[in-house]
Amino acid sequence: MTIQVIIAGFKGRMGSTALEMVRQDKELALAALLDPFATETEIDGVPVFTSKEDLIGFTADVWVDFTTPAFAYENTKFALENGFAPVVGTTGFSPEEIEALTRLSTEKKIGGLIAPNFAIGAILLTQFAAHAAKYFPDLEIIELHHDQKKDAPSGTAIKTAELISQVRTSKKQGLADEEELMEGARGAAFDGMRIHSVRLPGLVAHQEVIFGAQGEGLTIRHDSYDRSSFMSGVRLGIKEVVKREQLVYGLEQLL
Ligand code: NAP
Repeated sequence: MTIQVIIAGFKGRMGSTALEMVRQDKELALAALLDPFATETEIDGVPVFTSKEDLIGFTADVWVDFTTPAFAYENTKFALENGFAPVVGTTGFSPEEIEALTRLSTEKKIGGLIAPNFAIGAILLTQFAAHAAKYFPDLEIIELHHDQKKDAPSGTAIKTAELISQVRTSKKQGLADEEELMEGARGAAFDGMRIHSVRLPGLVAHQEVIFGAQGEGLTIRHDSYDRSSFMSGVRLGIKEVVKREQLVYGLEQLL
């Protein structure tokens, strides 16, 4: 039985890459495509919709979402309410939203995945960084993305900081009376750590965690050079959520 997949945001950079991945996987099939500004009504026999409400009563297994932070929560809620297991790469969810969606998925007994990063190397980076933070509690996170990214810091940087703060002895880094001579110079604060966001054309998705200690330093870095780096994670997510009855946050939960 092929898994029937809806792709929301199919005209975007990530959505169009996901569309090609689904097309090429024999275990998956495209059920419908959604994008508010689509002008087509079908592509190779697959219906195209411009409003999610058109999908009420539609039959499909999985809702892949690569849209924009402003719509991701409502889209994911809609997917769960309508029986589609969400696989969401769109970033920008608050912890309260993730909690509410997890509760809804449990009530509905529908699996799901919200993954701020689908690249396996990025998942390893967050895990290695959390391991290192036990021994090197002084660190700064630098995430670097293309200049069309709407949210900052990246979902991956937030997830990295969350994982690190679970194992790191909480501390405020730098001087207590440190003064910013220009706003934002020290980046965003999270549990005493700092997160810096770089936006430049030519970049895809990159992250470094820099650790400093007495007389030594350690840098862990991951680079996604191409959006295809995310597709093995999306494929895994699609195939796993249909077997589950609760939404999880982070691809590492499925590895
Ligand atoms: P993008 O190129 O701007 O694509 C987003 C697409 O979604 C656009 O075609 C947009 O249409 C469409 N869209 C907007 N609102 C929608 C709605 N309500 N329903 C359906 N489609 C809608 O952005 P991208 O680079 O593909 O990134 C998409 C998201 O994925 C971002 O949040 C990004 O941070 C995230 N991302 C995640 C990963 C990961 O591994 N998890 C990796 C890369 C990116 P219009 O352009 O017409 O508005």
